[in-house]
Amino acid sequence: MSKLTICGGGNAAHVLITLAAHAGWEVDVFAPLADEADRLEASLASRGGIIARRGNQTIVGGARCISADPAEVIPGSELVLLALPAFAHGPTLQAIADHFDSGVTIGALPARGGFDYQAYTVLKAKKISARIFGLQTLPWACRIINYGQEVEILGTKAEVDLAAYPSSKATALIEQLSPLLGLTLTPVESFLTLTLANTGQLIHPGIMYGLGCDKEDVIFARDEIPLFYQGVDQPTADLLQVMSDEVQAIAKELSVQLPSFEPQQVISLHNWLLRSYSADIADSSTLRRAFNTNRAYVGLQLPTRPAGSNTFVIDYKARYLSEDVPFGLVVLRGLAELVGVTTPTIDTVIIWAQKHLEQEYLINGELTGSNLVDTRAPQVYGIRQVSQLVEAS
Ligand code: NAD
Repeated sequence: MSKLTICGGGNAAHVLITLAAHAGWEVDVFAPLADEADRLEASLASRGGIIARRGNQTIVGGARCISADPAEVIPGSELVLLALPAFAHGPTLQAIADHFDSGVTIGALPARGGFDYQAYTVLKAKKISARIFGLQTLPWACRIINYGQEVEILGTKAEVDLAAYPSSKATALIEQLSPLLGLTLTPVESFLTLTLANTGQLIHPGIMYGLGCDKEDVIFARDEIPLFYQGVDQPTADLLQVMSDEVQAIAKELSVQLPSFEPQQVISLHNWLLRSYSADIADSSTLRRAFNTNRAYVGLQLPTRPAGSNTFVIDYKARYLSEDVPFGLVVLRGLAELVGVTTPTIDTVIIWAQKHLEQEYLINGELTGSNLVDTRAPQVYGIRQVSQLVEAS
C-alpha cells in the first residue's frame, strides 16, 4: 500500500484523511500545532475514523499514525500534502524537509501565491530533489463539526487547476491525485499561472474591503452579521471586477514579455466562478448574482470577533486578509511591478488591509515596506527581472 502524509489538522486535513484512507492510501498525519496531534489521535483511537458528510453521502477514513514529530510520519511518504494556510507552509517545510525520502512529491492544497519560490528555497538549501505541485484552490468548502470525528463538505468544485514542477510530471500526478480527491484536475503551464489564477486573493480581500471598509466601529448582534458572499453588493462586485481586470492586464503583459506564457489559462473571476460552481449557481448572469446565488456559499458570514456579550465586530485580522494579502495580493503586486503594469485598485485594497494587519508592504506606491520579507512576493526571492520568472517556474 502506498503511504502519504497529510500536514495539518484543520478542516481540509479532516477531509483529506477520510478521502485518502477511502481511496486505499496508508495515511499518516503531521500535526504539530498545539495539542492537535493528541486530540486527533485520541479521537481516532476511540472511534476508528473520521466521518466526512457530503449531503446524504458519508465517507469514513482514519489514519495509521498521527504525530507532532516529523521523524515519525514523514519518512516513507510517497506524497506529502500540505493542507494548511499559506503562512504555515514555510515553518512546516522547514520542519519536515530533513525527513523526506528521495523522489517524494510535495503538494499544497491550496498553493496560494508564490508557493514554488518558497518550496524551492527550502529544498535547495537542504539539497533535496523533489517534485512539487499546487492546487489553485481547495477543492471543497468544508467545516469540522466535531474535532477528529466529523467534517462536513458543503460544496465541491467541479474542476481545479494543478501546477507541477517539473511541469512534465503534471499528467502522471493528475492520474494519481484525481481518484484520491474525487474531482477533475486540470494541468496549467506553471506555478506562475497558478499564482496569477489564485482567485482567493481577489475574492477574500476584495469582499472584506467592499463590505468592511469604514465599519470598524459597527457592533453586530449574532443575527445581524452580514453575509460574506451572498452579501456582495454592486459596488463590491464592481471592485472585484476591476481587480480581476488588473490581473488580466498583468497576464497579458507577461505574455508579451515572456512569449512562452499562456495568458488564457488565467481566467477572469466571473468565468472561474462559473467553471468551479456550474451546478451550484442559480443565476450566473452577472458577477454579483453569481456570488449571491451560489449554493456552496449559503450562510457564510463576514469574519467577526466578540465585542461583548453576544455582540461582534468585524475581524480585520482574519485569514481573508492575513493569508490572502501577504500570500496573494502582494505576490500579484510584485509580478505587476516586474512587468510594469499599474494596479491602482489592488493597491488601494493592499494599503487598506496592511493598516488593519499592522504590516507594511506597499509604501508610496513601492513594495518597500518592512514586512515585505514576510510575504512571497517574487522580489523577496531575488527575482528582479521577468526573465528570472522562467527559471523559477
Ligand atoms: P483550518 O483553520 O481549519 O486549519 C488550519 C490548520 O493549519 C490548523 O488546524 C493547523 O493544523 C495548521 N496550522 C495553522 N498554523 C500553523 C502553524 N503555524 N504551524 C503548523 N501548522 C499550522 O484551515 P482550513 O479550513 O483547513 O484551510 C486550509 C487552507 O484551505 C487555507 O489556505 C484556507 O484559506 C483554504 N481554504 C479553505 C476552505 C474551507 O472551506 N475550509 C475553502 C477554500 C480555501
